[in-house]
Amino acid sequence: MIPVIALVGRPNVGKSTLFNRLTRTREAIVADFSGLTRDRHYGTAKLGKRQFIVVDTGGLEDSAEGAIFEKMASQTLQAIAEADLVLFMVDARAGLSAQDQEIGRYLRKIGKRTLIIANKAEGMKDSLHLAEFYELGLGEVYAVSAAHGQGVRELLELAAAELPAVPEPDADAEEDEDQPIRIAVAGRPNAGKSTLINAWLGEERLVTFDMPGTTRDAIRVPFEKNGRRYELIDTAGLRRKGKVFESIEKFSVVKTLQAIEGAHVVVLVLDGTQGVTDQDAHIAGYALESGRAVVVAINKWDALDRYQREQLARSLELRLAFMRFAPVKHISALRRQGLEPLWKAMGAAYDAATRKMPTAKLTRLLQEAVQYQAPRKSGMFRPKPRYAHQGGMNPPVIVIHGNSLDHVGHAYQRFLEGWFRKAFKLDGTPLRIEFRTSD
Ligand code: GDP
Ligand code: GDP
Repeated sequence: MIPVIALVGRPNVGKSTLFNRLTRTREAIVADFSGLTRDRHYGTAKLGKRQFIVVDTGGLEDSAEGAIFEKMASQTLQAIAEADLVLFMVDARAGLSAQDQEIGRYLRKIGKRTLIIANKAEGMKDSLHLAEFYELGLGEVYAVSAAHGQGVRELLELAAAELPAVPEPDADAEEDEDQPIRIAVAGRPNAGKSTLINAWLGEERLVTFDMPGTTRDAIRVPFEKNGRRYELIDTAGLRRKGKVFESIEKFSVVKTLQAIEGAHVVVLVLDGTQGVTDQDAHIAGYALESGRAVVVAINKWDALDRYQREQLARSLELRLAFMRFAPVKHISALRRQGLEPLWKAMGAAYDAATRKMPTAKLTRLLQEAVQYQAPRKSGMFRPKPRYAHQGGMNPPVIVIHGNSLDHVGHAYQRFLEGWFRKAFKLDGTPLRIEFRTSD
């Protein structure tokens, strides 16, 4: 499982500044999950081929001096509990405060692996200023300037050294033919994830199932279906209770993100009775950003009347417009209806995500596309796509070479995307098109 780093500290020490530096997400994924503090951000940081989930535990804003833990949102505590490493941020200019000491006491008590990050240290030559932070009793203090980017890369290297190495999944260039298809079932609380998983696993033979020792361990359930091997990556602390599985933990954004990162195919389960909510859209956005194949399962179809079904179709069109590539299946996990088409869509999405696209065929298709419709001239430039090759899979990447390709417009890019999607039957997977221009 991809390791998790939590940024912790009193307000204004520079957590969100460091978060933005570390994750380099153009648009931070602001997860407005209900009941959670409004300012929590989740992103992924990369160091070479390794990646990490980074959580900015904002949400200490309202704490009065000396009462930080009573006010500290339980979600922040959950983020700390779920983290593999805590970056405890302090302000090198302001020095050690009572709030810092209180947070420090808490981190010492729970014994979580922690690095102390003294931020705003630009232009501070000597380490004298930092001496007082050693009083926190949490070990070494590292000086950075998040605003100026100083020491940030070293910090990430330091953090990486503390964490288990998990390469990004698309880094294994060739997918092993007999590896199981890894599935993440994601969705809001009560969408019906456990019911769906039980409907699956109740029918199918479990290959093996080893109960892990602690909740921090990832749970993977291998099973077979229609002669194909699958592995379910748990999102919610699945536990076997007699014949059925039940989720014993409350909804966890971090676990959801870890499962998405580790999966080939994400089944996004929506509660049909609730329409498409903000949380659904956030989870979908994260899956898209991770490049995962996605199948949308609209659950509780049995409980909807005709009007509700029409409403739902409209809200899908509106709120998940950025995921048109994902097939939509209507199911009733409770009544075990619609599950076969869902399996088919999952298998097809996996096949699409790992499709091999030979250079000769890509280039021929590209030339046919250009013949059908050439890219428009832009000022002095007429873009000339010449050939294409596959730049990666899971998600598939098509790299197009030619001249003046910087001037290809969005509309034409979408046209090419559609052209390749159709030719290679790329249903269920995002497709990335990159242009490499030789002038
Ligand atoms: P958060 O409340 O912990 O998330 O803190 P922010 O990231 O919002 O930063 C609080 C303030 O500190 C902002 O005005 C930032 O511009 C400033 N800040 C952040 N990092 C640095 C830094 O490295 N040096 C200086 N001088 N200011 C910083
Ligand atoms: P989870 O939190 O996503 O794991 O959701 P659960 O599987 O625990 O289901 C939440 C509630 O929705 C339970 O009361 C289920 O019985 C109910 N439920 C799940 N699937 C369906 C369905 O297909 N139809 C209906 N009507 N109810 C369902």
